[in-house]
Amino acid sequence: MADRITITPPPYAAQALERLERGGFEAWYVGGCVRDAMLGRTPGDWDITTSALPRETEACFQDFPCIDTGLKHGTVTAVIDHFPVEITTFRSDGVYSDHRRPETVQFSKSLTEDLSRRDFTVNAMAYHPVKGLMDPFGGLSDLKSRVLRCVGDPARRFSEDALRILRCLRFSSVLEFFIDPATAEAAKSKQELLLFISHERIREELQKLLSGNRAAAVLREYAEILFTVLPELIPMKGCAQETPYHCYDVWEHTLHALDAVPPKPVLRWAALLHDCGKPAVKSFSPDGTAHFYGHEKESLRLTEQILSRLRFSKRETEAICALISHHGEPLPVSAKRLKRLLGELGEELLFSLFDLMGGDLSAQAPHLYAERSRAIAEAKELTEKLLRQKECLTLRDLAINGCDLLELGFPEGPLLGNTLHILLEMVLDGKLSNERSILLEEAQKIKLSFSCTK
Ligand code: ATP
Ligand code: MG
Repeated sequence: MADRITITPPPYAAQALERLERGGFEAWYVGGCVRDAMLGRTPGDWDITTSALPRETEACFQDFPCIDTGLKHGTVTAVIDHFPVEITTFRSDGVYSDHRRPETVQFSKSLTEDLSRRDFTVNAMAYHPVKGLMDPFGGLSDLKSRVLRCVGDPARRFSEDALRILRCLRFSSVLEFFIDPATAEAAKSKQELLLFISHERIREELQKLLSGNRAAAVLREYAEILFTVLPELIPMKGCAQETPYHCYDVWEHTLHALDAVPPKPVLRWAALLHDCGKPAVKSFSPDGTAHFYGHEKESLRLTEQILSRLRFSKRETEAICALISHHGEPLPVSAKRLKRLLGELGEELLFSLFDLMGGDLSAQAPHLYAERSRAIAEAKELTEKLLRQKECLTLRDLAINGCDLLELGFPEGPLLGNTLHILLEMVLDGKLSNERSILLEEAQKIKLSFSCTK
């Protein structure tokens, strides 16, 4: 029954398995860790499935910190050598009434029953170092042919828990697997049920999907599923760009840009959303050329709406929005402008902006590529040079601060802050050098002119 496969789990996971067996229980590695180990990927977590009931599991790990992750659902997390191991009792799921979670679960004595509740065949395998691989649903064969297939009837499995639809797309993107036709068909036919899924879970799954190697290909094939959760993007598909700069419609351009940027979440989100405002602002000149005046602003508005609905953190929202609002930065970028961008965005985000601009460019008409990509490369080099020279970029780098102005007799209040900003602008523009005596002299002049005009 069990195939001869060898997987080498890390010592902390092996210890967890041994403990349960020493307690007289059956225990197996299960799910993602078995799948990933067989694919040669490093598993994130080593989950264990066991015949022990939750209280019995806790008793086996008395001398370890244990977290009741979900006792009701049978999960105990034991922390071994600082690594959390999720240990779940064999179970079968009861009725699903909200398209997300079973109302009840029944603990079971059967490993096969436990595997049958799992979503995809490649996730429904268990491994034991002596007993080998337990694979009742053909997971190994699907893994070899890189196919995602639901365990059981796909339509039923997706309507039980609609999050599986996004998990399916996510695994297809990350693992570079194709989706079996019957599973794909069911995912499409049940897509409306995604409206029952919490915004946080949608964000988490989309983020993983976007960071996968096949993100663009999956979104191209399953665009309607994405549009169910991000309806703001619907008008992008089929929105032609009758301009000399473009060779694709807005949606196809977006997918090409997405494919071309490195798989960092913030960057991939920015690539997905950078032009989403284009359809709403499209206009034509008399010769039939299309224009998208103000599209950055409209893209930003829709992006803020999407990110707030999906409960993004303030930090991520700011980063994604900053990339979108600057993605149309005119080329070439002068040193003066780069200093301002560095001050505003910081080093990491500015380099992400260059990546986004590069991805955006590679998804435009090819005749623009050579000149503009050279300009982006030059902007990167110039930025590196500015960073090496430790240029003054923000108020923090200025050779004087608020206390110096107070000593000069500035009153507390807006004039003080405004003066520092004026001085920074002058330094950034190269009109003043960032030297204490020079800045103090200029501040004095500003103070005088202010008292004259008062
Ligand atoms: P990764 O950890 O890389 O996200 P994973 O497959 O380990 O992938 P988890 O969410 O950690 O995914 O879940 C562990 C296992 O639990 C899965 O491999 C699968 O067997 C099962 N599982 C998780 N979520 C579901 C679900 N919504 N429906 C059915 N089975 C699920
Ligand atoms: Mg996992």
